[in-house]
Amino acid sequence: MGERVIIMGGGVIGLSCAFEALMKGYKVTVVEARTCGGQASGAAAGMLAPFSENTAFPDDFFRLCRESLRLYPEWQQAVKDMSGEDFEYTNSGSLYAVYHEADLSALKQRQLWQNEFGAQAEIVEGGQLRRLEPELSPEVIAALYIPVESHVHAPDYVKALERACRRLGAEIYEQAGHAKPELTPQGIRVISEHGEIYEGDRLIVCTGAWSKMWEAQFGIAIPVFPIRGQICAYDTAPQRVRHMVFTSQGYLVSKRHGQLVCGASEDLAGFDTSVTEKGIARLLTWNDKVFPFVSALEPVLKWAGLRPATQDGYPLIGELPQDRRVIIACGHYRNGILLSPVTAKIVGGLLTGQASRLSLAAFAPERFSSGLQYMKEA
Ligand SMILES: Cc1cc2nc3c(=O)[nH]c(=O)nc-3n(C[C@H](O)[C@H](O)[C@H](O)COP(=O)(O)OP(=O)(O)OC[C@H]3O[C@@H](n4cnc5c(N)ncnc54)[C@H](O)[C@@H]3O)c2cc1C
Repeated sequence: MGERVIIMGGGVIGLSCAFEALMKGYKVTVVEARTCGGQASGAAAGMLAPFSENTAFPDDFFRLCRESLRLYPEWQQAVKDMSGEDFEYTNSGSLYAVYHEADLSALKQRQLWQNEFGAQAEIVEGGQLRRLEPELSPEVIAALYIPVESHVHAPDYVKALERACRRLGAEIYEQAGHAKPELTPQGIRVISEHGEIYEGDRLIVCTGAWSKMWEAQFGIAIPVFPIRGQICAYDTAPQRVRHMVFTSQGYLVSKRHGQLVCGASEDLAGFDTSVTEKGIARLLTWNDKVFPFVSALEPVLKWAGLRPATQDGYPLIGELPQDRRVIIACGHYRNGILLSPVTAKIVGGLLTGQASRLSLAAFAPERFSSGLQYMKEA
């Protein structure tokens, strides 16, 4: 094949695209501003929950998420085999808990349509609910149980992806600072803040919450902005919480060694990743209402990351119309860990010219630019 692919951004999306391109035989260079997985991807709770995250109706985004969950077992095995690293891929199932009779009809509606898409959802109450999740608050009257949802340990998943890519021969350059692409008829160059030059034939832009900065250069509107997520974790006994538990206000998910991760706020704070007292206090109040035993605990970890949100809530995945050597894959907002395999497969298909069987128009990078004239940089 011989084509050289340069990927900007070493988060879960950039590294997944790198892994897929390497598996297809491309030569891959990843250029990361700071540290691989050091931004949103390393901050994530790692839930693979297309049903619990999409409660309204089955739109194109839900289908994308559902397809990615379907791809996960094989995908994660390939990453594990290539990296030799484990990242706690766990099929725990999830419970979406409600507190009022009035919420039951919405839950039943969801169960109906989501079961058409393989959720295997069941409404659980009383003794059945307590057997599934013994320490759940008695105030929870019912839950939608979805046995097919899973989770990973996100920071370890990103490390495994990085290791797998290196083993496949990727060149990964970290601490590149604010790197910039240059598109010329002869080829593509990415120039680091310190002046290093990386050359390639194709460019994949996976710069997460920072992607808006390419608008002028690429001549399309890229309405991606950071939404800060503050999140915390308690130390508990392993398996004290058995499922991912969602409520209308947040979620709790227990990792293998008993670390109970609880998230997450949604704040507009620009590119500030600091943790605030107010943000964490709101989480703690809700955690007590879901699992009363946590009121006796203090979080042992608190952190924050910047989700790459978009104007319509959908990611941008596709070629740049005016220069098809460039592929954009950004704006995965709350679901980038879940969406990593499907994004990589779509991008892999774009590299090789193989059409996806999914409907991708809703994710076209130029969809915010209708009426604007694409302008090529001089
Ligand atoms: C608190 C929290 C909880 C979450 N929980 C979940 C969850 O349970 N499940 C789920 O699926 N998703 C979850 N998410 C969302 C998920 O983390 C994101 O959707 C995903 O990480 C986005 O991946 P990314 O690679 O696009 O972005 P990032 O991980 O932010 O990576 C982008 C990278 O690009 C680099 N970069 C930027 N500019 C440049 C440049 N000019 N040159 C080179 N590199 C550059 C950055 O340094 C960064 O490393 C959560 C997010 C947060 C914050």
